[in-house]
Amino acid sequence: MSKDDNSGLMDSRPALYSPTGYGIHDGEAVVRTPHTVKTLQGAGVEPLIALLEEIDGDTAASELRERVADATPDHIDALYAHDLVYDARAISADMRAADCGHMLESLLPAIPPESHHEVPARLQSLSVAVFGNRDTVSSVLSRLQAAGVTVTNGTTAEPDAVLLSEQLERSESWDRANEQWIDTDATLVKSRLTATGWRFGPVLTPTAPACVNCVYSRVDANKAGGRLYTETVTGEPPHWRAYVDSLTELLFRVLLKQVPRYLDEQFVVYDHYEQTVETPRVFALPHCEVCDGI
Ligand SMILES: [Zn+2]
Repeated sequence: MSKDDNSGLMDSRPALYSPTGYGIHDGEAVVRTPHTVKTLQGAGVEPLIALLEEIDGDTAASELRERVADATPDHIDALYAHDLVYDARAISADMRAADCGHMLESLLPAIPPESHHEVPARLQSLSVAVFGNRDTVSSVLSRLQAAGVTVTNGTTAEPDAVLLSEQLERSESWDRANEQWIDTDATLVKSRLTATGWRFGPVLTPTAPACVNCVYSRVDANKAGGRLYTETVTGEPPHWRAYVDSLTELLFRVLLKQVPRYLDEQFVVYDHYEQTVETPRVFALPHCEVCDGI
């Protein structure tokens, strides 16, 4: 679709934006969102900033323009092009009420704005099968449900995602999650709350070269990797809220096919207190009895 086919389309839609700050300095507009800082230059920066002030999430962009001197449909397009606004209908009222809308905002730039309004219906058609420690992730699951996502306990027919919430010790749930992933087209997300932070990954897409059995067999064979399952905590440590937010956002990304590439074939080990990130690699096990030959 050429740009011309889309011109003016977003102008008819309600725009929303969650700025943490914006202003004009030395003729440049500096706009800060929770996810980025943009610097815009040129003659049109004043209408852009004025439009941001008017945006309320309900009013069609074309009506917003009428309140701002010199604003044109091109200014609306520019706001979208710079990922400074999104179609307000991307995030349902239920999600806003459950305070999880902002977890979608960061991935909306990866979705074409003309499709933003379809996101709530897409989420309502998707499901997550949960294995392992459900208590630690109950707030994650309730947010997914607020977005309309179906959450099932354990094996289900055709999940879109499999969440393995790891427990302290390896349990049967790890094998069952692996089987569920192998038997379906789901993407598997492995997650663990630890004493100092959390551990995500690897995220196994349907075509990933390794499976959960490979991962744990490698861990067994590697003394350094042994740390991978010694630190799980239960309850609500101080970094629990940040863990819940991060895992919720990750699952939304997986469900909407925006899997972060940095979780391909590696773990992300985050230390909330040291603010450090490590990314141990994961390799397929030669002749894995579970995934060999898929
Ligand atoms: Zn395997």
